[in-house]
Amino acid sequence: MATLYFHIPFCKRICSYCDFYKVGALALMPSVVEGMHRELDERCGYTSERSLSSIYFGGGTPSLLHPSDIEQFICHAERLFDVSAVKEITLEANPDDITAEYAEALAKTRVNRVSLGIQSFDDEVLKLMNRRHTAEVARTAVRTLRRAGIENISVDVIFGIAGYGGASLEHTLEEAVNLDVEHISAYHLTIEERTRLGLMTRKGEYIPVSDDVSEAEYMAVHNAFTAAGYEHYEVSNYAKTGCRARHNSAYWQGVEYLGIGPGAHSFSGDNRMWCTSSAKEYSEGVVLYEGEELTPTDHLNEYVMTSLRRVEGIDLDFIAQQWGGQHAERIAVAAKGWVESGVVVADGKTLSIRPERFLVSDAVIESFFE
Ligand code: SF4
Repeated sequence: MATLYFHIPFCKRICSYCDFYKVGALALMPSVVEGMHRELDERCGYTSERSLSSIYFGGGTPSLLHPSDIEQFICHAERLFDVSAVKEITLEANPDDITAEYAEALAKTRVNRVSLGIQSFDDEVLKLMNRRHTAEVARTAVRTLRRAGIENISVDVIFGIAGYGGASLEHTLEEAVNLDVEHISAYHLTIEERTRLGLMTRKGEYIPVSDDVSEAEYMAVHNAFTAAGYEHYEVSNYAKTGCRARHNSAYWQGVEYLGIGPGAHSFSGDNRMWCTSSAKEYSEGVVLYEGEELTPTDHLNEYVMTSLRRVEGIDLDFIAQQWGGQHAERIAVAAKGWVESGVVVADGKTLSIRPERFLVSDAVIESFFE
């Protein structure tokens, strides 16, 4: 089965940390949406799989679209793919967009999961991030979605913000837990060069947190959410039982996906391609792509990377079967030091990173790479 992703690259306000492809020119939205329907028709044969397991509306800010526009995309997908096995249709939303009217209209569509970009329950942090909602708006958004009948909600929080650890972070974690949502994604703030926070950092107006602070806050997040009953199943993701994100899990398991919209990426098993057109070019019908063919080594490295970010880890028998026993042996040797230091758990068949140590997963992954 494959998955389908729609990228809605529009944002009303640009967050100070955000390096994703997005545009503020909302006037282009109708022609981009029209272009996305065209692209879906043209590229629906990209994946060899004709059945979908999930659909995801990401951004940008997909909640800037009316729910009826979202349902039209789903109806269009239904004409091109077999959607009978789709269990999860997610919409990323800004808390500020979730009015009672919006939530009720959304509940009438086939969207059954909403991922809310809450980020923090400290209004000072939200201001520093240039978010357009407040903590109270975020709380209300969750209540409003619940009242409308949305049963599967995920929220995003960010930690590692200089000056806002300690009580501020504790408060955010407590509030996130109190929301009693099904899923939480927790990301460490990354300072990207081409962002407002990047500029502030260069000017010395923002000093990123030290590695020690990162580690302490990572553990505070891990402890708070696991103590509340969430499973820490991927580096940045926590879920109640049975509520792991199906769409993202499919990415991590290397299934094919078709991405539609400016900036969207697609993957067909052996090929990866991404749309390079700007929203303006795209709205004018100029849709350009770049791509690459994956070699067996790329596949192996990708398997190592995505698997080690998940609690299941890598399966050495699978590596031996797919790529040859010498690769499994090389990785087993590379793992020795990590196992001795308690970062990696080896059970003879699998190698996995202890969730408490996911923060160093990049270093482990690199050492396992071909
Ligand atoms: S709403 Fe999301 S995509 Fe838009 S600027 Fe903020 S973080 Fe970036």
